[in-house]
Amino acid sequence: MSDRTLVTPHGGTLVDRLVPESEAAAFAARAASLPTLPLDAREQADLELIATGAASPLTGFLGKADYQSVLDRMRLSDGTVWSLPFTLAVDEATKVAVGEERGLVDANGRLWGTITITDVFTRDPLVESRAIYGTDEAAHPGVAYLLGRPKQLVGGSVRVLPLGDDRPFLDYRFTPRELRAKISALGWRRVAGFQTRNPIHRAHEHLTKLALEVSDGLVIHPLVGETKQDDVPASVRFKAYQALVEKYYPRDRTILAAFPAAMRYAGPREAIFHAVVRKNYGITSLIVGRDHAGVGKYYEPLAAQRIFDQFTAEEIGVSPLKLDPTFYCRACGTLASSKSCPHDASTRLDLSGTKVRETLRAGGRLPEEFTRPEVAEILRAHYVAASGAIEPSKAAAPAPAPAGGSRGFVLWFTGLSGAGKSTLAEALKARLNDSRRVEVLDGDEVRTNLSKGLGFSKEDRDINIRRIGFVARLLARNGVVAIGAAISPYADVRNELRALAAKDGVDFIEVHAHATIDALAERDVKGLYRKALAGELANFTGVSDPYEPPSNPEVVVRSDQESVDESLSRILGVLATRGLVDSAVLAGLPAAPVAS
Ligand SMILES: [Zn+2]
Repeated sequence: MSDRTLVTPHGGTLVDRLVPESEAAAFAARAASLPTLPLDAREQADLELIATGAASPLTGFLGKADYQSVLDRMRLSDGTVWSLPFTLAVDEATKVAVGEERGLVDANGRLWGTITITDVFTRDPLVESRAIYGTDEAAHPGVAYLLGRPKQLVGGSVRVLPLGDDRPFLDYRFTPRELRAKISALGWRRVAGFQTRNPIHRAHEHLTKLALEVSDGLVIHPLVGETKQDDVPASVRFKAYQALVEKYYPRDRTILAAFPAAMRYAGPREAIFHAVVRKNYGITSLIVGRDHAGVGKYYEPLAAQRIFDQFTAEEIGVSPLKLDPTFYCRACGTLASSKSCPHDASTRLDLSGTKVRETLRAGGRLPEEFTRPEVAEILRAHYVAASGAIEPSKAAAPAPAPAGGSRGFVLWFTGLSGAGKSTLAEALKARLNDSRRVEVLDGDEVRTNLSKGLGFSKEDRDINIRRIGFVARLLARNGVVAIGAAISPYADVRNELRALAAKDGVDFIEVHAHATIDALAERDVKGLYRKALAGELANFTGVSDPYEPPSNPEVVVRSDQESVDESLSRILGVLATRGLVDSAVLAGLPAAPVAS
């Protein structure tokens, strides 16, 4: 079969940015000498899409003109439809310049490739939020994410080393070229795609089969990049997809493939994105249901279908299969939708996501008309394990399931004396106390109780921090929110704490409580800063002793520029994005201001 049977990639050509295997060693050796920029999980997912050509025609992270154009009109500056900003955020303290080449490293310090910087510019997270998400409420996970990121952006083309074979779902993680080759070999012309971030229950299975009826083949293309914590993890979902495809789909007409994008929850804009990039994979039509890529009540249910009307069919190049939600109707005795079933809602078997979770957590069964038993069993095992309950079969009575978001973690405040660490730690504790067990490990208190006799040499300071870190990890492993509030001036020991937490499987969130020395001196009632500045006080961090600011903290708060509530909003937004706290704790807080 010739490639002429395949749909044209978005923008005309499939670009990819992978360094050929034969040049990889030399490229990596040269890149290793470059100063680096860190990628977070979303940026890493975006980079993989760019690298493989899934994000064709992008050749890198957006420059200023494209970024602005995407926000304003859902197009790149050359007019190509593109609805989501692919951005690379860089901490404001990092000086970057146009023309520079930088290494790109992930959270584990692994080198992924390089970027040649063509643009350095600033984003206003609230402006971007309103354009992309239609809201600037911090409770929206996309907004919370943006508020937690630096506002300095760099754009430029990337080159990416051959992708590691330790990525999850590798056997299904087909690149666009690989998937196109499979589709071409099968001779499919009309190729339906199904995007999902959820387990597939009967209702969605029905949609995929409707698509299969009118297509040559079907690609079940679940998203496996970062999602919200309360979404079912991709590893669990994937087991369920495999079981489903194995037993209920025609083998020669169905491909299961992993789509390595991160979820934005951008609703209509994300539907456009999900559609146009599917062309790069050889898919010609995409199922777009109600509230595609939605979250909460931020989007009109039909907005994700209607947005396609703003473009010509040629510009999008993939036909949206706009399908109504389906359900099992007892009166019809079949799966149906309000388009095909005349009966009222009382005959319909329609379970909410919450009801499904509750039933499975309690070890209950889902009706077969709602979920295939193979899928239900995989989900049940997940929920029982995740809730920490004992397997019902092994216990006399099922243990009560704790409320969601009960994972412990370490939140580490670092910053100069007086920069707001203790105040924020206590405010955070007060906010979370209703729903979580919280302990604050205050540097000064620990010095009195756990580290008596230690001085202020680097060695003694490091010992003190290690002790606090140790206790924090113990607490976090037992489900407690452990908040460390200590100057912790040295980057190496803070990084050590982070690495030890990772080893224990504990999330470590570093918050830099930042304020200028001038501001600190001004409001310092004890006059310590003035004394230190006058040379009368030794070992005073930030003046007569070093302070190494974190290079890539999860959050920066500015007590000299923002209110305690604004800082809290910034911190909780990041915690909510990572699923560490329920976004309900943000209620009543102002949106965090744009950091400067
Ligand atoms: Zn009916």
